[in-house]
Amino acid sequence: MRCLMCGKKIEEQGFSGLFYPGDLLCGECRGEWQKDGNYHSFGDFQVYTSYIYNDAFSSCLLQFKECGDEALMDVFLYRIRNELRKKYRGYTWLLMPSTAENEERRGFHHLKEMFSSLRMPVMEPFEKDSDEIQKKLGYEERQKMSSQIRLKRNITIPSRVVLADDIVTTGATMRGARNALAGKKIKIAYYAVAYVEKKQAFLNRGD
Ligand SMILES: [Zn+2]
Repeated sequence: MRCLMCGKKIEEQGFSGLFYPGDLLCGECRGEWQKDGNYHSFGDFQVYTSYIYNDAFSSCLLQFKECGDEALMDVFLYRIRNELRKKYRGYTWLLMPSTAENEERRGFHHLKEMFSSLRMPVMEPFEKDSDEIQKKLGYEERQKMSSQIRLKRNITIPSRVVLADDIVTTGATMRGARNALAGKKIKIAYYAVAYVEKKQAFLNRGD
């Protein structure tokens, strides 16, 4: 088997092959991923992240999201699957929305593919307006909507949920989703695969 990022042959007998059989990245590429495992504070909520968003992570995510390389879908959670299953046992994953335009352009919902490997309950209860729709709204309408994110109609939200995204930068998306859930008596946790440190944030295009 060859590494999906660098194309080199993966040594199944090697150290990492022993502990992570079937990993789709070679030990060298995997070694460039920087572990995190911390909570990051965004005002009144905290987001748990598994990795730091560095060059290795970002090129892998870019190849998956923007180049449509769906073979990479299992790479992101591969080494943290068991940890996440344990940590969020009994929770339902609520995926952050993409705009319809982005999803159509990609032809798939990248988060759905990413989180399906957990084999846990996953929902897509949110909708997100595109910037175009926002511009068409009048000033007052825009003021009324605190974010572009709202709940879809006729959705029942389970009592324990994790708001989930691929990366977290300013926390604005999760805050919007959290606000869309306001008034519900539910327990909310926050998770992103990678944390974008402030020095990296200007390189990140969001969504
Ligand atoms: Zn590699």
